[in-house]
Amino acid sequence: MKLTNNYGAPDSIVDAVRNDPYTKDGADFSVTELIKPPQIRRLWNKHEDDITVDVREQIWKLLGTGVHAAIEQADSEGTKEQRFHAEHTTSIPPYSVTISGAIDLIRDDGSIVDYKVTSTYSVQRGLKEDWEKQLNLYAWLLRQNDITATKLSIVCICRDWMKSRVGKYDYPNSPVVVLSVPMWRDGRQDDYVDQRVRVHVRESTIPCTPEERWARGAYQVNPTHSGGGKPRSFDTMREATDYVNKQKTGSYNIVDGDAKYVRCEGWCEVAEFCPQWKGGRGNGS
Ligand code: SF4
Repeated sequence: MKLTNNYGAPDSIVDAVRNDPYTKDGADFSVTELIKPPQIRRLWNKHEDDITVDVREQIWKLLGTGVHAAIEQADSEGTKEQRFHAEHTTSIPPYSVTISGAIDLIRDDGSIVDYKVTSTYSVQRGLKEDWEKQLNLYAWLLRQNDITATKLSIVCICRDWMKSRVGKYDYPNSPVVVLSVPMWRDGRQDDYVDQRVRVHVRESTIPCTPEERWARGAYQVNPTHSGGGKPRSFDTMREATDYVNKQKTGSYNIVDGDAKYVRCEGWCEVAEFCPQWKGGRGNGS
């Protein structure tokens, strides 16, 4: 990857960004890679030498690294960041891979804590599906190493929190918000690992889903009964179906909305090489 500095950050910042400590420590997949869309990983591996990222796109990541380091230095409770490895062989066809993940904190009682530096908006929207998947993959990883996870939680640090907004809508009272993560049963964790490995190792690349592209307004719920009112837009199928399930009367259908693909537009490092995005049709590959 080529790092550019088009907006004049000082050398000290550029060097800190370049010094990214990320590693998967020899494994075929890290936990975060497994969760990522397969198309991103494949395009990254294919075009790594040509991908250009500017320092300004890496600053939130740098902030996250700094916060992790500060917490690690100060926290005396439990096991600090520790990397675990496990092997998985897929069901059909049999294919063995190694998976690794670095867990921020494992308390003595078996509870897993992950720290995230994120936006207040993200926290207001509640637990992200990807966060739930990540923490459950950590629980799976621990189980492969004969350790039982008892509880999962995410400590969010809101990088743009403003005291003046407290009391408005669902604005958090503090920039530190703890989110509890549902622990899946073992079978669901096993199935998820198997399914993710299979989509990553299959021969043909599957296109990114609207959720993976951080689509805004990807799904539209239309009332189909008389007097049902206006259609409503939702970002994920889960939000759309939750809304429909909560309606006590009436009938509804869910159709594709006129989506804006936030990740493709500004946050995907392989967008320049992506046939799905370059194709411009939203979902074609
Ligand atoms: S540009 Fe969009 S569709 Fe293409 S890999 Fe990135 S997120 Fe997926």
